[in-house]
Amino acid sequence: MATIIDGEATAQQIRAELGAAIEAVTSAAGAPHLTTILMNDNPASHTYVSMKHADCAEVGIESTDVRLDPDDPASVLFEEIEAQNADPDVDGILVQMPLPGHIDADRVLRAVEPAKDVDGFHPENVGLLVTGAPRFKPATPHGIEQLLLRSDIETEAADAVVVGRSNIVGKPMANLLLQKSPAGNATVTVCHSRTADLAGKTTAADILVAAAGVPEMIDGSMIKPGATVIDVGITRRETDAGSELVGDVDFASAAEVAGAITPVPGGVGPMTRAMLLWNTVKAAAAAAEVEVSLP
Ligand code: NAD
Repeated sequence: MATIIDGEATAQQIRAELGAAIEAVTSAAGAPHLTTILMNDNPASHTYVSMKHADCAEVGIESTDVRLDPDDPASVLFEEIEAQNADPDVDGILVQMPLPGHIDADRVLRAVEPAKDVDGFHPENVGLLVTGAPRFKPATPHGIEQLLLRSDIETEAADAVVVGRSNIVGKPMANLLLQKSPAGNATVTVCHSRTADLAGKTTAADILVAAAGVPEMIDGSMIKPGATVIDVGITRRETDAGSELVGDVDFASAAEVAGAITPVPGGVGPMTRAMLLWNTVKAAAAAAEVEVSLP
């Protein structure tokens, strides 16, 4: 039976560790400050944004919650981003996805000042990550990197397979595993919707990161005995009793084969939230010229 990698406990540990950095920044230049901009009616997005503000309040990060009408023209959003870019009191800006269809999301990502882009999605920050000098690692892959490090999972020389090639999870995850760094030095294969013989690839993985958004698509027969399985997927599924969250991995069969596995919920999700806090503190520290680091 696999060891369960507890994302909730690890995220709690990281929030506690952030305390010293937040104190240092706060005494030098005032509390770190995150602004979120929400421009959709999606209930999941509203929940995510509320959780981000609750997380900020818990650790002593100031936060501003900007809500725009999804029917507003793009100019309203761009003016808001410009105002936040120009506000010296704001350290981090996060534009909650998805955006309404009439808004060019790529243009929005490019509009956020790179030094405040705590999501790490601006092309400048993507470039820094890919070239091995990351400023802001995107929160989900960064959280997974921390889980691997803190669970003593050896990535060096490991065969890692990432299922999913999105800009927010799959691609940055593959990049981090590839870096010459403590949670890197893996040999990385990236699979996607057009991959031939997916099971042939996944069964060769010492570390398998599932980020396809297809509920329970990976079962025990697709996992190498003893592998580390990181389940990024989150899908809400209706049940007789209401609804439940399911990952991309069929937990019951996978846990019988894997060496270590993250649950859904309670695995990657809490880590994503914790790493957004870390990026906000990092942005504030850079603005205040204070040195901070994660252990
Ligand atoms: P996305 O839809 O942008 O990308 C999904 C990727 O999976 C695509 O690259 C696609 O090629 C690949 N894919 C789809 N079906 C596949 C299949 N059958 N076989 C192989 N590859 C396939 O999604 P995303 O934004 O990267 O998110 C992926 C999942 O992770 C979603 O369930 C999302 O809700 C979840 N997510 C969780 C967190 C977290 O904090 N836990 C954060 C971000 C995303």
